[in-house]
Amino acid sequence: MTYEAVIGLETHVQLKTRSKMWCGCANEFGAPPNSRVCPVCLGLPGVLPVANEEALRLTALTGLLLNGEIPPYAKFDRKNYFYPDMPKNYQITQYDKPSAVHGFVEFEGCGGLARVNITRAHLEEDVGKNFHFERNSGVDFNRAGVPLLEIVSEPEITGPQMAYDYLNALVEILRYGGISDCDMEKGEVRCDVNVSVRPQGSADLGKKIEIKNMNSFSAVRRALEHEIPRQIEVLQKGGLLTQETRRWDDAGGLTETMRSKEMAHDYRYFPEPDLMPFAPTQDWLAEVKKRVVELPLAKKQRLMRQYQLPASDAQTFTWDRPLGDYFEKIAPRAKNPKAAANWIINNLRAKLAGTGRALADLKFPSEYILDLVELVESRQISSSIAQQVFAEMFDSGLTPKAIVEKNGWGQVSDAGAIEAFCDQAIAAHPGPVADYKAGKAAALNFLKGQVMKSSKGKANPNLVGQILERKLK
Ligand SMILES: [Zn+2]
Repeated sequence: MTYEAVIGLETHVQLKTRSKMWCGCANEFGAPPNSRVCPVCLGLPGVLPVANEEALRLTALTGLLLNGEIPPYAKFDRKNYFYPDMPKNYQITQYDKPSAVHGFVEFEGCGGLARVNITRAHLEEDVGKNFHFERNSGVDFNRAGVPLLEIVSEPEITGPQMAYDYLNALVEILRYGGISDCDMEKGEVRCDVNVSVRPQGSADLGKKIEIKNMNSFSAVRRALEHEIPRQIEVLQKGGLLTQETRRWDDAGGLTETMRSKEMAHDYRYFPEPDLMPFAPTQDWLAEVKKRVVELPLAKKQRLMRQYQLPASDAQTFTWDRPLGDYFEKIAPRAKNPKAAANWIINNLRAKLAGTGRALADLKFPSEYILDLVELVESRQISSSIAQQVFAEMFDSGLTPKAIVEKNGWGQVSDAGAIEAFCDQAIAAHPGPVADYKAGKAAALNFLKGQVMKSSKGKANPNLVGQILERKLK
C-alpha cells in the first residue's frame, strides 16, 4: 500500500509594533532581562489589558494580504494552562472568533504555481522565556505580552519541500506588508507542524502528530523528511499511531514523544472578560486597506511582463526590495531594461557588498546607469571600458560621459586608425595569420584580441573583425 502525507502548519510571527499587546512596554529584542516589564505583562492580579491597536491593524492587514476576509466581529479568549513563564496562568488568544479567516498563499514550487489555503489568522500574546543555570533557573518576561499572530494553514500540504516553499512565501509576504521582520535569529517566527499519513486516495485523516516550536524552515523540512517515513513504517508494520506532540531533535535528526496531545477542552477556553469584542468599522478597515502592498509573487510576475526580465532577475529584485525599487526608478525610461538590470545586479550589487555602502549613499544618481547603457549600446565605448567607467562613476559620482572624455576612453570607430592596428597585428603574428588562411576560424579571435590590446580596448570590436576578415581574404 502507498501512503500520502497530510500536513498543516501553524506559523507564529511576532508583529512589528513599538509596544506590547496589552501594555505600553517596549516590544524590543535584546534588552537586559526583565527590564521591559510592568504589572500587566507580568500578569499581576487585578491589572487590565488594553489592546494594541496597531497589532489589530496588522492582523487585519495580514488577512487582506493573504486574500482573506475580516469578520465583522472578533473576540479574545483565555486559554488556561500553567507554565512558569506565564504567571497569570492563561494566555490571551482568539479561540472561535479570530480576526482574519479564509485566505490563501500562492507560491512557486512543485514545478509550477502552488496554493495553500489559510484557515485563519488570530492574535495572541507571547510568554516569557525560561533560562536554566547550573544551580537555579530564571525567567525573562521581556517577551511576555509581545503580540503574536498565528497563521493556520489548511491541511493541504503534501510534502516536506512544499511545506518549506509555503513557509518562505508566507514570511516574504509578511515582510513585504510590514507585518513582521520575521527575523528567525530573534525567534520572530516559530512553527508548529501537524502531520499525519493515510493510504493514498483515502478521504479519512490519519492520527495527527504535532511537532512543536520549530524555529527554522529547514528544520521543518528535515523533521518532515524524518517523520513521514517514521509514521508510514509504524503503519506498515501493523502498529498504531496515537495523537501526540513530538519534539524535533535537530542534532539527532529524529522526533521524540513530548506528551500526548491535549484537546481543546483541556484548556478551558472562555471569553476574556477584560477585553471588549472587536468590531472593525468601515472607516477603520478603509485605513488598513490603504496599507495593502503588491505581493512578492505578483511583483516578480509584473517585472517579467513589464520589462521582459528573465525570472532570475525578477526574483533578485523581489527578494532584495531596495535594489528592486532602485531598478524601478529608472526602468520606465530604459530603452533596454534588461541591460540596466544587468548593471544593477552584476555590478552595483557587488560594489555595494564590497564597499559596505548603502544604496541611499550612492554618489551618482540612478539615471547614470541609463547613460552608461546608452554609451555601450551606441558603441561609443566597449563593454570592457564600460566596466572601468562604472567603477570610476561609483567612486567619483562623475557622469559616464565626463569619465570617458577625461580618460580618452571613447571607442575608436575610425576605420583608418583601426586598419593601422590590424596591419600591425597581421605583421607581428604570421603563425595565426597562416592558421586562419588554412581554415582555422578561431585564429581570427586571437588577432582580434591583439588589436583590442594595442588599442587599449578602445577599438570597436565589430569593426575590428570586419577589417581583419577583409584584409586576410
Ligand atoms: Zn508591560
